[in-house]
Amino acid sequence: MDAGSCNGCEIEVAAAFGPVYDAERYGARLVASPRHADAVLVTGVVTHNMAEPLRRTVEATPRPRVVLALGDCAADCGVFRGAYGVAGAAADVVDVDMTVPGCPPRPEQIVEALRGVTRR
Ligand code: SF4
Repeated sequence: MDAGSCNGCEIEVAAAFGPVYDAERYGARLVASPRHADAVLVTGVVTHNMAEPLRRTVEATPRPRVVLALGDCAADCGVFRGAYGVAGAAADVVDVDMTVPGCPPRPEQIVEALRGVTRR
């Protein structure tokens, strides 16, 4: 879920699921609805208007679920810390299980994190 990113992290997520890094070969698959998900990948700082949608999305994801904060913004607000539109990092709004650092994280980091989810 993009909670307020610059789209840089999404580009790397797309690359992680592309033919070069191919996260699907490890069992990870992107789904359109949180009700079909085992994990929630959160990108970007959480903006004020996305805080409640993020809470609802995580709540709509069946347990047991894993929440990953992907990128420096989701992890600790990154370069947007203190900005007027920012409610906080992902962990300020929902419970976060894993953090993937980087601005943005490299596709191989994303694949490695997703493999960590499938090993849980
Ligand atoms: S971590 Fe970097 S690339 Fe990702 S949303 Fe923040 S500024 Fe953009």
